[in-house]
Amino acid sequence: MRNRAEQQDRIEQRRDMVGQIAARGVRDTRVLEAMLRVPRERFLPASMREHAYDDSPLPIAEGQTLSQPYIVALMAEVATLRPGERVLEIGTGSGYAAAVLCAMGIEVFTVERLARLGEDARAVLEKHGFGGIQVRIGDGTLGWPEQAPFDAIIATAGGSQVPEHWKGQLKPGGRLVMPIGDTPRQQRLIRVTRVGDQRFEQQDLEAVRFVPLIGEQGWSEAQAESSRPRSPAAARAPAEDDDAALVADIAAAVEPLPEIDDPAFARCIDRFADRRVVLLGEASHGTSEFYRARAALTRRLIERHGFNLVAVEADWPDAEVMDRYVRHRPALDGPDPPFQRFPTWMWRNREVQDFTRWLKAHNAGLTSDRRVGFRGLDLYNLSASIRAVLDYLEEVDPHAARAARQRYACLAPWRNTPAAYGRAVLSEPEKACEEAVIAQLRALLEKQLEYVNGDQDRYFDATQNARLVASAERYYRSLYHGAAESWNLRDRHMFETLENLLAERGGDSKAVVWAHNSHIGDASATDMGRQRGELNLGQLCRKRFGEQAALVGLSTHAGTVAAADDWDGPMRIKTVRPVRQDSHEHLALGTSLPRFLLDLRSGVLNEALRRRLDQPRRERFIGVIYRPETELQSHYMKASLASQFDAWLWFRDTQAVTPLVAGSGGAEDDTYPFGT
Ligand code: SAM
Repeated sequence: MRNRAEQQDRIEQRRDMVGQIAARGVRDTRVLEAMLRVPRERFLPASMREHAYDDSPLPIAEGQTLSQPYIVALMAEVATLRPGERVLEIGTGSGYAAAVLCAMGIEVFTVERLARLGEDARAVLEKHGFGGIQVRIGDGTLGWPEQAPFDAIIATAGGSQVPEHWKGQLKPGGRLVMPIGDTPRQQRLIRVTRVGDQRFEQQDLEAVRFVPLIGEQGWSEAQAESSRPRSPAAARAPAEDDDAALVADIAAAVEPLPEIDDPAFARCIDRFADRRVVLLGEASHGTSEFYRARAALTRRLIERHGFNLVAVEADWPDAEVMDRYVRHRPALDGPDPPFQRFPTWMWRNREVQDFTRWLKAHNAGLTSDRRVGFRGLDLYNLSASIRAVLDYLEEVDPHAARAARQRYACLAPWRNTPAAYGRAVLSEPEKACEEAVIAQLRALLEKQLEYVNGDQDRYFDATQNARLVASAERYYRSLYHGAAESWNLRDRHMFETLENLLAERGGDSKAVVWAHNSHIGDASATDMGRQRGELNLGQLCRKRFGEQAALVGLSTHAGTVAAADDWDGPMRIKTVRPVRQDSHEHLALGTSLPRFLLDLRSGVLNEALRRRLDQPRRERFIGVIYRPETELQSHYMKASLASQFDAWLWFRDTQAVTPLVAGSGGAEDDTYPFGT
């Protein structure tokens, strides 16, 4: 318990829980008072504590569950217990129900068949003042003959009949409460009362779902496995049950995260503090939580761990305007306001604005050579890059500017419709501008010594723009050769730009990269690499930097997202469909946690779980376009999560980013990023 406020919080949650149980009809004040006193959260793995007072069963280790609070209360009530009575509980699980009985003044004997659970429960019970409870590890269907007879027996696992041993171990007048069913996973709760030496009365209470009672007088392990329904509707049941075990293991392995705005949120990134490059992904291009989380993590990497470069999936010339702003460099005359092209909301939004304002303020306290840059890796804004090269040369070498103008004239007809360039070259190859743009890049590079005397930063910006023109020229030509070729060209360009940025910044350079999961998660672990021949930035970083690169994916379940119906279409706020059942995201959803980090690294995550998470499952990718009506075909592909990322961040419920719309009237929106 971290502090008094938190403790108070728990007490209130417990009060609410008990209020709900009473509202559902449990009247026994001894039961209700005991449940008010027992801290349910202490019986859960750390990752589930936040949900301790949810009205639902919760996963504990070994694929087992801690029963729903109402059911714990109901069973204690129908057993009609009085203080000082001796009660046998079958299925210790977490130990919580035993603790509640103990808090009612009962002498509790509890049996658990799974040693790890039983031992853990014994330790937790002792630690929290329930040391009087006797825990035995073994087959509870045999009862506990040495301690018999009992006033009551309560079983928290379901069998097909009442074990004979239990009947024999009940005192006259004793009560037995247990789930009974024809199948191991669906039961009715019954109460059996011993009304004579060999006479028992049975009462049917209500439908319940417990884990199977496995043992000599219960189900066999094989039955518990194989007796699942075989109807077509239930054909998915085995997979679902496997998933339930997997979810429980994931829940035990994850680190739950507080709200993004909580200062403790970003601590989770400290594990990658010593990396050269930390790549932070996103499962869509329009989700507020992804931007805010990346901002919080990046701030920590900058403030605490010496990262001095933020490189994002934005066009170089547009990001340059931003970089000048955050590093207090003078703004250039001339260029259009940045991020005016589709998809404007991706970088022209409130979340990015907040981050860049922070970065500007952070940089104000640093000398200019130490200020943290904000750079673009992408290659789409061909016309702005051409203009930037020409403007630069006009200033430093007007003669060279004339030559550049002639070379770039080749692309002039397509400056605003570059995709048409690729089409034109397809039918008239002589129109290709490849030689001209490469010659221009070479000319700039050859003049390095001469130009760099002026302003190193400006020279670097200009050469990057010239590189971009050369890459974009190839990119637009390749669009008609197949998706893989153009994709690979673009990601190679992003990777080379990142390398250039790191080299330019010198030996101590450390970069945080923000881009979509499809660029950051290792493509060779997904259908991109396995079926489509695509590579990506994350994969190239792993190859180049090895252990010095960290690939972090960010994903979500449902909510809203900013996206368009079609390329160049207007932005809409769309509802994100709930994740598919066969996806990695669905496993995360199963933990019920609103946010968590799962460290997927070998040596950190246990190997068995890593292997399971490496089995290909669907994963959702929403870009700037979202088509919910064809979601499966348009937005899912198979991925091996544990190889794709080093860590995975989960945000169950997410909302769209807040776009800043140019011309919307808000002064700051029109002068973005400079408005204050
Ligand atoms: N009372 C538990 C609590 O509060 O955490 C919930 C128990 S969980 C629903 C059921 C437990 O019964 C599981 O831990 C399971 O391993 C255990 N179990 C199943 N068959 C058993 C048997 N024959 N003997 C003892 N325990 C058994």
